[in-house]
Amino acid sequence: MNLIFMGPPGAGKGTQAERIVETLNVPHISTGDAFRAAMKEGTALGIQAKSFVDQGLLVPDEITVGIVKERLEQPDCTKGFLLDGFPRTVVQADALGSILNEMNRSIDVVLDLAVDRDRLLARLTGRRICKSCGATFHLIFNPTKVEGKCDKCSGDLYQRADDHEEKVGTRLDEYISKTAPLLAYYSERELVKSVNGEQAIDAVTEEIMNTLRGTNQ
Ligand code: ADP
Ligand code: ADP
Ligand code: ZN
Repeated sequence: MNLIFMGPPGAGKGTQAERIVETLNVPHISTGDAFRAAMKEGTALGIQAKSFVDQGLLVPDEITVGIVKERLEQPDCTKGFLLDGFPRTVVQADALGSILNEMNRSIDVVLDLAVDRDRLLARLTGRRICKSCGATFHLIFNPTKVEGKCDKCSGDLYQRADDHEEKVGTRLDEYISKTAPLLAYYSERELVKSVNGEQAIDAVTEEIMNTLRGTNQ
């Protein structure tokens, strides 16, 4: 299956993607994770992306499309893929369409995780990430067993610079102006399935799996 996860920052895309890819056995392609890894390593891509990511702004389309194209051409994507956080603009969606076309492939479903703005603020400001393995937790909604330590690998947790309150507003505005229009774009192509992202984490996973089963039939 070729899937896209859409939804505003903090909707739960990464959390759900980590679970769903285990069941579907497809690679999880997160542009946000790719930018953070490049920034950590200080590569040319990381240096280019950093000023945008740190300000809560979208990275320019040419840069973003380039990394996704390269990733989709890897052999493990032949069995399917889950795109998390891409596309985020109409230009990126058009580019994705062309890339897949050339490969004789297409998107099967766009899952939209719907969550209201007040809830997103609480989710983003309380989000904590493992420095070692990248797993995502939340101070209140998904706490680790030992404070400050990852449940999976005991690594230290950190807060993303762009999850500080003053950056979160910019990111939500970027979503509304540039990414939300993609829902109409993919609705016209009859690909969008909406999932209630305001439920508990397990319930959201269940709704996603049920939706995908429905799509398969
Ligand atoms: P996204 O990838 O869409 O930005 P994340 O998956 O990182 O979102 O989730 C944002 C924060 O909200 C994380 O701290 C995560 O632990 C928490 N979270 C995810 N899903 C839920 C949920 N259904 N209920 C409450 N908190 C959630
Ligand atoms: P979240 O799901 O919380 O918004 P991500 O980890 O998906 O966070 O993205 C973090 C940042 O990386 C974004 O604010 C943006 O700067 C950059 N980014 C990620 N994906 C894209 C994309 N498709 N286009 C442009 N910028 C992106
Ligand atoms: Zn970890």
